[in-house]
Amino acid sequence: MFKSSVPELCWPAVIDPQAATVFHFLHFLRRTQWLKPTVLQKAQSIQLAARLEHARQHSAVYSGLLGGSPIAPQRAFSVLATLPILRRSDLQSGGTRYFENVPPEHGKVSANSTSGSTGEPVTVRCSGISYALRAAHTMRGHAWHGVSFLSSLGAIRGGVAEHGQGQSMALPHWGGYTAKLFETGPSAALDITTPLDEQALWLKQVQPAVFMTLPSNLDALLDLMPAPWPGLATVLTLSEALHPDIRARVKQQWGARVFDKYSSEELGPIAFECAHGQYHVVENLVTEVLNDNDEPCKVGEIGRVVVTDTYNFATGLFRYEIRDHAMVGEACACGRGLMPLRRIMGRVRNIMTLPDGRRFWPLFGMRTYGELAPIRQLQVVQTALDSLTLRMVVHHALTPEEESAVADRVRASVGWPMRISFETVEGSLITGNNRKFEEFKSLIVPPEVAV
Ligand SMILES: [Zn+2]
Repeated sequence: MFKSSVPELCWPAVIDPQAATVFHFLHFLRRTQWLKPTVLQKAQSIQLAARLEHARQHSAVYSGLLGGSPIAPQRAFSVLATLPILRRSDLQSGGTRYFENVPPEHGKVSANSTSGSTGEPVTVRCSGISYALRAAHTMRGHAWHGVSFLSSLGAIRGGVAEHGQGQSMALPHWGGYTAKLFETGPSAALDITTPLDEQALWLKQVQPAVFMTLPSNLDALLDLMPAPWPGLATVLTLSEALHPDIRARVKQQWGARVFDKYSSEELGPIAFECAHGQYHVVENLVTEVLNDNDEPCKVGEIGRVVVTDTYNFATGLFRYEIRDHAMVGEACACGRGLMPLRRIMGRVRNIMTLPDGRRFWPLFGMRTYGELAPIRQLQVVQTALDSLTLRMVVHHALTPEEESAVADRVRASVGWPMRISFETVEGSLITGNNRKFEEFKSLIVPPEVAV
C-alpha cells in the first residue's frame, strides 16, 4: 500500500517527487524483466549509444577513443567492443579524468570513495537519477525474493557505526525510498564490527523476519547459533560471494530461504538471484563474462566479469573489470530475459591455487577454529603455492600444541600438506569502507588470470 507524503491526502496518495521517480522506475522494471533477450538488447543499444555519445563529447579519456562521428544505436555494441578493458588501477591513476559533467536533469552528483579490502582508494561519481534507478532495482529484488515490506528487517552490515548512534540503530520503518513509497515494518541495523556473541544476542532480541548480512558474517553466526530465532523467514546476503555450503546451512540449520544480491560499490546492484537459483543482470548494465583471451565465455564457463554502466553519466565506466569471476548461465526457467549468471564465484584474489594446479574458492568455517585455540578472528593468506600464513586476532598467545592443531585442520581443509606460519594481528581483520572480511586471500596470481 502506498504511503502519502501529505498525511491528510491519503487517497489518492501524494508521492514525494524524488520517490515518484523511483516508483516510475519500479513500474518500468516490473515490465522490462520479462522482455525477450533480443528486444532487451535492442533497447539497451539505444541507451548505450546515448551513453557512448556523451562520453565521446565530454570525456577526457574516451573522446579520443570514440572517433569523430556520432554513435548510432545500430553500432553501439560494436563500438563498445573496441574500447579497452578498464581496470581499477586505471581509475586510480586516471583520477578525475574519468568524471564527466552531467546535465542538471541527472540530479545531484555525489562521490563514492572506496578503499576496498585491498586498501587501494578509488572514487566514482554517481548521478542522483542513477541512484534512484538503483533503489528501484533493490525494491524489485525484494519482490523477486518474496520479501514483504511489512516484514521486520534486521541488517548486520558495515557503516552503521559511522552513520548511527553507536553500534546499532532502529527505525519504525525501512528508511530510504522504500519508506517514502510504502507502508513498511520496522527495521534495525547493527554494525558488522560488533563481536559475534553480541550479534547473536542482538538477533535474539530483535528477531527480524528478514535478516540481511554479508556471507562471511553469516557463516560465523551459523556456527554460533545452531537454531534460528522465532519468526525468521528469509536471509538476504550481499557484498561478497555466497559459498554454496553457507547457502545449504541456512536452509538446513535455520529452515529459512536465502537469496543473494550481487553488487559493487562502483556500480550498485549488478544482479539479483531469482527463485530458480540463477542471477539476472539488471537492465542498465551491459555485462560481459570473458575468458583469458578476452573472448565471451559460453554457458557453463567461468570468466572475468566486465561491466558497462549505461545510466550513470557522471563517471565513464565502460567495460569495467570488477575483479570477480562468474559462471555464464542459461535461459532461465523463471522466464526473465535478463542476462543469466549461474554462479558468482568471487574475487580473483580469493582463489586458492595448489601446487598440483587445482584452483578453488576455499571456505574454512573460521568459527570452528575457536574450539582449538584462543582465536577471535582468523584469516588465511596464501603467500606461495605451498605456503599459507594464518593471521590471527587472539585472546592470548597460542601454545605450540594449539598452533599444531590449527595447522593440521587447515591442511586437512585444503587437502594439501601446506607449510604454515602464524602472525598475530592487533585489533580487527575487517578492513575497508565496506567492512568486508576476507577469510582467505591469495598473494599469488594464478598465471591464467595474470593481468
Ligand atoms: Zn531466473
